[in-house]
Amino acid sequence: MNFAKLKVAGFKTFVETTEAPIEPGLTGIVGPNGCGKSNLVEAMRWVMGESSFKSLRASGMEDVIFAGSGGRPARNHAEVTLTLDNAARTAPDPFNASDVIEVSRKIARGLGSTYRINGREVRARDVQLLFADASSGARSPALVGQGRVGEIINARPDQRRRILEEAAGIAGLYARRREAEQKLEAAEANLVRVEDVLGQLD
Ligand code: ATP
Repeated sequence: MNFAKLKVAGFKTFVETTEAPIEPGLTGIVGPNGCGKSNLVEAMRWVMGESSFKSLRASGMEDVIFAGSGGRPARNHAEVTLTLDNAARTAPDPFNASDVIEVSRKIARGLGSTYRINGREVRARDVQLLFADASSGARSPALVGQGRVGEIINARPDQRRRILEEAAGIAGLYARRREAEQKLEAAEANLVRVEDVLGQLD
């Protein structure tokens, strides 16, 4: 699964629809200070399910929507689409059936975010798991931000272990185990309730 294209519309400085192809090998983004280079990387993290607006240098999630500048009015929604090349069929199920996977996230003022994978609405969790299984994602070590190298060097052993587990692609398994444990606890609680009811009927 490789990143093939990033499409951004109404996100931070990118008021018009902007497409950035991501070719195999090295892709560079160059431009003057403040033109939106970091915003493009943030758009990538946002579409992969980033839930912390602070880590997107915003004071609320709606701050990612173009706020207006130079006489251009603010937008009411932002949308980012990340196209993945899955020709090698390495995506986790149930998304492994197609050569191309399109993941998109849209936010509208007052309405929050919606996620889609290949046009079908999904939960944020589904998007996060898709990337976690591929050793990628909004907070994965695949994205090395400013100051991150020093952070890893200074990390405690347990924090470093989490980074290594994310890199090994097993972070998604922990999330699934937590979900399974919660379902099990709910089933056990239901069972106790059923036994109570049966006891009253006896
Ligand atoms: P540098 O080279 O200095 O690191 P950069 O090219 O990485 O800069 P960014 O940090 O991506 O630039 O962009 C910063 C710009 O984005 C600022 O001018 C800020 O005003 C603008 N910006 C941030 N959020 C929004 C928004 N919601 N609407 C419009 N502009 C925004």
